[in-house]
Amino acid sequence: MLGISLWRGLLGLEDTAIEDVVYDAGGTLVVHVRPMSRRRGRCGRCRRRSPGYDVLPRRRRWRTLDQGTAMAYLEADSPRVRCRSHGVVVAHVPWAEHAAGHTHTFDQQVAWLAVKTSKQATTELMRVAWRTVGAIISRVYARAQAQALAVSGRDGLDGLRRIGIDEISYKRNHKYVLVVVDHDTATLVWAAQGRDKATMRSFFDDLGAQRAALISHVSADGADFIAEIVAERAPQAVLCADPFHVVGWANDALSRVRIDAWNQARALARTEPKALAGWARRTQVRPGHDRAKQLKGSRFALWKNPENLSSQQQTKLEWIALSEPELHRAYQLKEALRLIFRLPIEQARPDLEAWISWARRSRIPAFVELQRRIVRHRTRILAAIEHGMSNGLVESVNTKIRLLTRTAFGFHNANAMIAIAMLSLGHHKPALPGRK
Ligand SMILES: [Zn+2]
Repeated sequence: MLGISLWRGLLGLEDTAIEDVVYDAGGTLVVHVRPMSRRRGRCGRCRRRSPGYDVLPRRRRWRTLDQGTAMAYLEADSPRVRCRSHGVVVAHVPWAEHAAGHTHTFDQQVAWLAVKTSKQATTELMRVAWRTVGAIISRVYARAQAQALAVSGRDGLDGLRRIGIDEISYKRNHKYVLVVVDHDTATLVWAAQGRDKATMRSFFDDLGAQRAALISHVSADGADFIAEIVAERAPQAVLCADPFHVVGWANDALSRVRIDAWNQARALARTEPKALAGWARRTQVRPGHDRAKQLKGSRFALWKNPENLSSQQQTKLEWIALSEPELHRAYQLKEALRLIFRLPIEQARPDLEAWISWARRSRIPAFVELQRRIVRHRTRILAAIEHGMSNGLVESVNTKIRLLTRTAFGFHNANAMIAIAMLSLGHHKPALPGRK
């Protein structure tokens, strides 16, 4: 066997004595360990030195990083202590979080992989279930937060000036997480489950009155509860519309027009004869079927920014311009609204007015309705443009959070989804074990 100190280095252990290293019958590496004396006899929850209580009869095991191709575990006695605050508790160990079944090094590597690679890469490489990954990243995030607070007294909410508040739905749209983004650094700074006044207040409770007074701008999606609590806790802040959401409303209106056109085409197609067999099909005239087929593949051509269209999507758009005048007008309305956010305020102001009257006269119900909503939010939309809240960095944070909700889908609870979002887009980017 290798020297003990070499094993300690390989396993990334601190404050830990290695007693023995063995291979068990199944080819698993088992490292017998104990905490060094200064880490012994402490409460597993608060780490306060506490009198011993007893030793549980079974030794405990913690999964740690594979050594070469072998799965590896640490194994140790499980003494209990009697803590003044927490009663009888399993004693603290330096290599793992309290009540965890994996070591710190294992946790760190899982968190790094979950943030940097795919679900499949993480679970296959580490040989754990995705749910376990959820539990691991929750505790990695909690630990990173606690350490930052202990070391520098920072909770990640210092220096906020311009923030974005957003509701993210996950788990088939039934549950929500409220997130707060720092517009100046494009960082996710706060997240909690819920979308109501109480959740919104808990952010301002964490922030405290002093720091809340420094907030100059808040962008949000137009939800009343956000506006109400911002007015209550940070009345000096200018409330802005979030361009990401306004463009989202326009995309929704456009989808409704497209679906209406498709339904009309389908209705016509149902009155048409069945397709002929073989070469005869080529000369058969079935306008309803043809229209439905063309419209079916048009979603992305209508959605994407025109500068990013493939040549096939470009052709699709040209077909829409020729054959679907109403849908094409709806598309132009959506694009025009999107581009207003890129304009300087002097130009955006008259352009928004022109857009509103264009939409009002469009005779497209979805856009007449959208126009009413835009009028209601006009002041906030112009404030967003005037104060430069329409920047692409924040939009990309918004998009990334939404992608993460898909990754987080198999997780057990909201905490894991919040943890992966904060680790990916917040202040605590995970590091690989053994590297600084
Ligand atoms: Zn304790």
